[in-house]
Amino acid sequence: MKICNLCEGQSKKSLNGKPHEYLVEIGELRIFKGQKPRRFKEQDYQCQTCRAKITHSTDSNNLAWTLWHG
Ligand SMILES: [Zn+2]
Repeated sequence: MKICNLCEGQSKKSLNGKPHEYLVEIGELRIFKGQKPRRFKEQDYQCQTCRAKITHSTDSNNLAWTLWHG
């Protein structure tokens, strides 16, 4: 299914960006307890419109919002 515009835009948002209105949380918040500053959290979301999955990560080495194609 084609990725919707909201999800395309979501993948470009910053760390502090809010999930768009059709994203719902799936699964549990994952907390990685490394040494500071290696502590980060991840949360998966799924879009109710296009069914895309997006992971929000506070790991500064990654994109804040990762869009999973396919
Ligand atoms: Zn979408």
